[in-house]
Amino acid sequence: MTATALTTSKITYTSANVDWEQFHRQFDEALGLVRGQLGREYPLYIGAEAVSSTANPIVDRSPIDTRVVLGRFAVATGEHVDRAVAAARAAQLAWARRDWRERVTTLRRAAALIRERKFELAAIMSLEVGKSRLESMGDAEESADLIDYYCQQVEDAGGFVRQMANVTPVERNTDVLRPYGVFACIAPFNFPLALSTGMSSAALVAGNTVVYKPAEDAPWTGLKLYEVYRDAGLPAGAFNYLSGHGSEAGEALWRHRGVDGVVFTGSKDVGLKIHQGLSNRWIKPCLLELGGKNAAIVMETADLDAAAEGVARSAFGLQNQKCSATSRVYVHENVAQSFIAKLLEKTKALRIGDPTERDVSFGPVINAESVAKFQRAVARARKEGEVLTGGDRLTSQPLARGHYVAPTIAKLPLTSTLFLDELFVPFLAVGIVAGIEEAIAETNKTEYGLTAGIFSQRDSDIARFFDEVEAGVCYVNKRTGATTGAWPGAQPFTGWKGSGSTGKGGCGPYYVAQFMREQSRTVIDT
Ligand code: NAD
Repeated sequence: MTATALTTSKITYTSANVDWEQFHRQFDEALGLVRGQLGREYPLYIGAEAVSSTANPIVDRSPIDTRVVLGRFAVATGEHVDRAVAAARAAQLAWARRDWRERVTTLRRAAALIRERKFELAAIMSLEVGKSRLESMGDAEESADLIDYYCQQVEDAGGFVRQMANVTPVERNTDVLRPYGVFACIAPFNFPLALSTGMSSAALVAGNTVVYKPAEDAPWTGLKLYEVYRDAGLPAGAFNYLSGHGSEAGEALWRHRGVDGVVFTGSKDVGLKIHQGLSNRWIKPCLLELGGKNAAIVMETADLDAAAEGVARSAFGLQNQKCSATSRVYVHENVAQSFIAKLLEKTKALRIGDPTERDVSFGPVINAESVAKFQRAVARARKEGEVLTGGDRLTSQPLARGHYVAPTIAKLPLTSTLFLDELFVPFLAVGIVAGIEEAIAETNKTEYGLTAGIFSQRDSDIARFFDEVEAGVCYVNKRTGATTGAWPGAQPFTGWKGSGSTGKGGCGPYYVAQFMREQSRTVIDT
């Protein structure tokens, strides 16, 4: 597709001042071009080579209408993993030896290409993952900003080369951060471009090479990232693309002896398994960004309109399939009734439908497994509490052709485990609390610690929230999304507890350095 005409001002997940007519025109045009490419077959890319596989391909179907086959993607086996790791190894030293400014230039070109192609990329994500137009464009824009932000980190640190003190007059001491080598990069389905780009670009700009496996449900977007890097001039073997299953290609990849580190974003269960199994011969870096069960707290002094809007947006944006989505609310008993009434009103006003259409804000969930998980949660909620809205699979035409479920809110006793388990479907649990102490205690009960939000006008509530809440990304009175909307360079995205492994998140100032190890260099003058 031609990229030239397809530029517009930057659009984040919460943009307001946008020329929407122009945006929708360009989106429609890109959607038309992308629809013209449906149903093709795609190989793996190892080194510069397109590699086919004899294994049954992944048939990538749109969650909007499962009759639509987006493409057939080769499935990587253990043997492909061996080859990809070897290709990454072969390319690594030369890539690391390049001046860091050259690596930055190449990656900045990749960011520019993403911006040029952002409508195509957004249209693909909308079809492949069921994102609304705004959500998919935010994903593309964030990807480009992530690359630029990580490049800037290297620039600001002067390539991570630092002169150190000299203990004797004849010595010169330098400290450098060097890449580890080959990184396995394994991505989830929900931000198929931004997370894949963020993880891999940080690894690459640091001088590592990458073997990348996208999620089974989003191989097309992942392939587009491979094309971006290739067209930006990344050397062959620096970024290898292996579509495939987590249980086979994913397992073989992180277990591979030739892999020097793993960067993974996905569920806590898989992340824990990788963490426990990775370091068998020596300790390898294991950067994990995992699940969330993010709470919003609504206190009695809150602006209830802002709270209802912020919670509805964060709970039902991308159908609650964001790691940062609000999936539980603790509301003060004195305002519970009126807050819930406003929340229900906002939720019932959501436009549900095909998210590639303009003005639709709520699309399908990713797959049949998510529908079943939703149905199990609703059945539990009906037993334990009261379903206030939603609860059903949506089966009227044309929604019956996709994985559609209704945005659902349930009022539950605080003892319900529906407040604790990550569901990743549009199910919001509401609990009533007596005050800030109880709200924070309930918030901290989960094993996750990703995002959290509070709505309150009282300074003491806010101070207490920041001091006591166990979460890496915290928001106060955020009407555009109670717990969502982090952006590179603005809100570092760090998971505490079961939500991450490093204590230093993507989007944050310490990210790139984690893909490097220190080397102290002492030279004695002769
Ligand atoms: P998932 O864990 O099922 O899959 C993630 C990736 O891991 C996929 O590519 C999958 O194929 C692969 N995989 C599965 N089993 C594997 C194994 N045994 N070995 C290696 N790889 C394996 O997650 P998902 O359903 O794609 O994504 C949703 C999850 O991701 C949620 O838990 C969500 O909270 C989390 N998430 C976290 C963040 C964050 O920044 N903290 C961001 C987005 C998503």
